[in-house]
This record gives sequence, C-alpha cells and structure tokens, in this order.
Amino acid sequence: MFDVCVVGGANLDLVATADRLPGPGETVLGDDYREHAGGKGLNQAVAAARTGASVAFVGALGRDAAGATLRQVLVAESIDDRGVAECGNAPTGRALIVVDEHGENSIVVVPGANAAVTVDELPASRVLLAQYEVPVPVVTSALTVARRSAVTTILNPAPAPTGGLDAEILSIVDVLVPNEHELELLGGVQRLLALGVGAVVVTRGAQGVDITTAAGEHWHQRPFRVNAVDTTAAGDAFCGVLAARCAAGDDLRPAVRWAAAAGALATTVAGAVPSLPRYDAIAELVSSAAGAA
Ligand code: ADP
Repeated sequence: MFDVCVVGGANLDLVATADRLPGPGETVLGDDYREHAGGKGLNQAVAAARTGASVAFVGALGRDAAGATLRQVLVAESIDDRGVAECGNAPTGRALIVVDEHGENSIVVVPGANAAVTVDELPASRVLLAQYEVPVPVVTSALTVARRSAVTTILNPAPAPTGGLDAEILSIVDVLVPNEHELELLGGVQRLLALGVGAVVVTRGAQGVDITTAAGEHWHQRPFRVNAVDTTAAGDAFCGVLAARCAAGDDLRPAVRWAAAAGALATTVAGAVPSLPRYDAIAELVSSAAGAA
C-alpha cells in the first residue's frame, strides 16, 4: 500500500526570457531558454516523495522525448510510474512560457496527453491527492474510487473548473485546499462546508493558511518567515506535504504546519521541482521559532 496516490497532470515547461513579451504577429529575440518538469500533479507527487512518503503517480504522457524526460524525473524521485499511461496519439503536456525583464509572463498550456488520463482502478494508498489539470470526470471517478475504499481524499481545486464543483464531488472530499482566488470562484468556505467538504484549508501566500472544519473548528496557521525569491510551486509543495503528513498519521493541525513550512521553503529557491524541499529542511523549519504559531 502506498502512502500517497497522486492523480494529475505532468507537463514539460518550456521557458524563454526576453526583454518584452511579443504582441500578436510579432517576433522578439529571446536571451535565455530552459526546460523544466512541471504540472501540478507531478510537482505535488515529488513534494510528497521528498518528505519520505511512498508515492504512486497516475497520469499520462505522450510517446515522445518530453514523455521520456518526465518519466525519468518520476523514477529519479522514487515515484511509482506504473499508473502513468503512454499515449500514442497526443503529445506530452507542455507549458510554453515567455517571461519579460519585469518578471511578467504569458503562458500557453497544451494539456496533450493529460486530457487522456483515465482511472479504471487506483493503486492502493492511504491518501489520494488530485488537482484539475486532468479532466473533471477523471477527478470525480478517482475521488469516488478512493472514497469507496475509505482512502483520505485531498483535492486542490486548481485551476478552478469554470463550471464550479458539484455537490456530489464536494461530499466525497475530506480536505479541500483552494487558494484565495479559487475559494472565491467556489463560493466561500461556508458554502463548501454546507455541501459536505470535511475541512477547507485556504492558502493565502505570505499571509499563511486559514483552516475551517465541518466539526466547527477554525484556526489560522501563521506563515513561516523566509526570504522569498520565487513563489512558483509553493502551493504544490504545500499540497504534496499535506498529503504525506496525513498519510503518516498526523492530525490536520500538525499536517498543515508541515505543509506551510514546505510552502515557505519552496519560495526560497527559483523554479518548481528544484524548489521542492526535503524532509530534513522542513523538519528543521517546523521545529524552529521562525514565527509560526
Ligand atoms: P498558490 O501558489 O497555490 O497560490 P500560496 O501562494 O497560497 O499557493 O502558497 C501556499 C502556502 O505556502 C501558503 O499558504 C504559505 O503557507 C506558504 N507560502 C507561500 N508564500 C509564502 C511566503 N512568501 N512566505 C511564507 N510562506 C509562504
């Protein structure tokens, strides 16, 4: 049995930097180019694995060089990839990102193989973690299968589905982890709890985290004070580590504390996968007096 099963998207991020973003029909000269593994599903799986959790990833990659690269990343992080399908008729998901000299960006995401993910069965796990970079019906069936086997379900509703989330889904989510923007699109904490979510964990960037449970508990997790340089993947570090700590048997309060420390650490290093912290660094911050209560 795995600690955490992540059902989600994996992308290759192609990042070009230029003085300014091109307008329609325009070509500008870039000055740098990098490729990174990305996608919320892959990032969250890596974050969970780096805390020592055993992790299985369920997703889909194209039969192309990018797919081979991303599979190598999963294997290098000791993530079980048997649930990662190889899709012959769609490319591996890509994010085409241009960043200008002010850090402003424009992004085209091509889901490609991520749109072809299916879940007939799931690897057995203590916790299921999902996001919305794969089709809504895939997330629904993953949560349904997990709930049937009494697996703890954690849903990061990102990006928030345009049609909102239906009540059927919300009633099988133990822990929902929206950021402030997603929370607004989903109608607020009280609505989500009324529709059956077990706990709503709202991440508020440098303002920390607000937690409200169906049992009527409410608390604020103060942010850990760090020197933030790039907030990319802070939310992914948070979700992956939350899932890992829940699988390790933590109650929600200490699990959120660990997740907030991981989110904070992820902001201290540039990029997504390179910024995801390891167990020892998180443990050190959690036990330090870095301002968190
Ligand atoms: P998302 O990237 O999904 O919008 P957030 O920006 O809310 O997610 O970040 C997730 C969590 O990471 C926050 O709730 C917080 O605990 C931690 N975090 C993010 N940015 C900072 C920061 N600048 N300082 C300290 N902690 C941070």
